[in-house]
Amino acid sequence: MTREPDHPVIHILDQATVNKIAAGEVVERPASVVKELVENAIDAGAHSIRIELSASREKITSIRITDDGCGMSPADAELAFVPHATSKIAAIRDLDTIQTLGFRGEALASIAAVSRVTLVTKQQGSGAVAGTKIVIAGGTVKETAGIGAPEGTSILVEDLFYNTPAREKFLKSINTELAQIHTIMEGICLSHPECSFRLFYNNHEQLVTDRSTRSLDTIARLYGSDTVKHLVPVDLSFPIMTVKGYISQPSLTRKDTARILVIINGRFISSPLISGAVRAGYGTLLAKDRFPVAFLLLRIDTGLVDVNVHPTKKQVRLSREKEIAEAIRKAVSEALLSQDLIPAADSPVQAAVSPPVMLDKQLAYTYPITEAAAGVSESTHAGTIDSDQRLRQTELLTGIPPVPSKLPAIEVIGEFGGIYILGRTDTGELVIIDQHAAHERILYEQVLLRLKGEHQSQELIWPVILHRTPKERSILKDLLPALSLEGFVLEEFGGETFIVRAIPVVLGRMEDAGIIDEIISDLISDAATGTVNNRERITRVIACRGAIKAGTVCSREQCQRIVNHLRLTQNPYTCPHGRPTIIRFSRGDLDAMFKRT
Ligand code: ADP
Ligand code: MG
Repeated sequence: MTREPDHPVIHILDQATVNKIAAGEVVERPASVVKELVENAIDAGAHSIRIELSASREKITSIRITDDGCGMSPADAELAFVPHATSKIAAIRDLDTIQTLGFRGEALASIAAVSRVTLVTKQQGSGAVAGTKIVIAGGTVKETAGIGAPEGTSILVEDLFYNTPAREKFLKSINTELAQIHTIMEGICLSHPECSFRLFYNNHEQLVTDRSTRSLDTIARLYGSDTVKHLVPVDLSFPIMTVKGYISQPSLTRKDTARILVIINGRFISSPLISGAVRAGYGTLLAKDRFPVAFLLLRIDTGLVDVNVHPTKKQVRLSREKEIAEAIRKAVSEALLSQDLIPAADSPVQAAVSPPVMLDKQLAYTYPITEAAAGVSESTHAGTIDSDQRLRQTELLTGIPPVPSKLPAIEVIGEFGGIYILGRTDTGELVIIDQHAAHERILYEQVLLRLKGEHQSQELIWPVILHRTPKERSILKDLLPALSLEGFVLEEFGGETFIVRAIPVVLGRMEDAGIIDEIISDLISDAATGTVNNRERITRVIACRGAIKAGTVCSREQCQRIVNHLRLTQNPYTCPHGRPTIIRFSRGDLDAMFKRT
């Protein structure tokens, strides 16, 4: 930048520009509008809040929030849109004891700066005095009028970001935006069970909660009674805080922390510290890569919680955070200790994973229990059958083009720990192969091959019904085209369910509702975070879920089949996630390790 002498280049921005810039912090996306307006309605003491979304194919076109709260007088209604105008605090010290969700006085001004807003409000108990209607576009008041209206407030937001095209460009697909709105609404519904919420999307009801004093009612409404069955109550008090809520039994887990919902003093927040403490409370009850489901309602001394660190208040700063984290860990751990956590034999989680009887018989015939195997526990026998099933599937697929193998010929000499295959190469080396990673690689390449040609699917004998939350439904809908290319036949089945009629051939005869459910869950949670495209993601998940699990002891013959197939892959060296599949030691390497020189 060049500056001419004596020519001032700095000037103060006009108010409209200032407002648009400030709006960028509070109003990131449609979900921010929903959050701010619903929080205002809660602060206004509403008992019933209605959220109506309309959308075209590409974007959300309008958001209307209607409440039966205290409403505003004509004078307040005009002031409400002025930046930093608030009825909730008068001075900074008020923040130490803040009871309301809002206090910055920024939301209405920010929203009005980047959209067209129509406010209709009437103060509770104002009797014959008319209500007020105000229309504002891009921060400029277009109309103010008296109007007959019910008590309470209704705010309609249209054409969001119409005057900030840069922001509009960054919006994600409509389903991603809807998923964000659902995430926020789930948190808000849970933090305010005393309020009833109804969310409509293009006039279809998407989410309803009733007023209740029990958060478990709200949880059941949002996540279904299946989830509730697997929850354990938490309730422990400490000098500085109380921990209440529900956490999952270790049998109900997820791949990420997305369903650890944390509410501090009525505010839905995201806190890696607290999610970490919840998980820590499970100790070794969870596998390394699994996370619990938890709904925690924390009451912490308001003096220890600084809510003013983030424009949207999504994060808070906690004083004495170590103490708080430890209290949460302890509360979770004690809640679990008080429970009998061995899943009942007839629990749905268990029932879902036992294979259909027909299949079992068929395989038992192919693999009669030998004398040696008779002493083996049932689960190991079932494991062998399962592995065989998975392997056979890989082999049934034809069309692998013969490529010169990048690996030498390998003779299997044993296995170790149900995880590693030990082998000897024809070039005189010792190799160690990760069984799961190798099989994953094999499946992955087979799925990719199929992508080029036509996909193959196989019908399920018993279609599998999947129950999904509204948010997950949105993500799943986005994935449907890619899933069908892959060989899944999946349809919406009205209400909250999807029905799976067929799965890719490569997944084998997995007539197993549990596994299919897990595959879809993986895809959904991946899609919310992942960076790779949908097809790649689906391919990886199919490969991972279809592959023989680590810890499954395979017979020598099974190991040999895995190795033979690995040799036929294009890239036999790593699994689709980049972990090595094979490590080799030459005679020289071993000699050096044993100091044989
Ligand atoms: P804040 O919530 O931080 O005070 P907002 O810009 O969100 O700031 O709202 C400004 C003011 O408008 C609020 O302090 C409140 O007095 C009033 N207001 C906003 N929404 C409503 C509503 N739904 N019902 C009643 N009053 C409202
Ligand atoms: Mg507000």
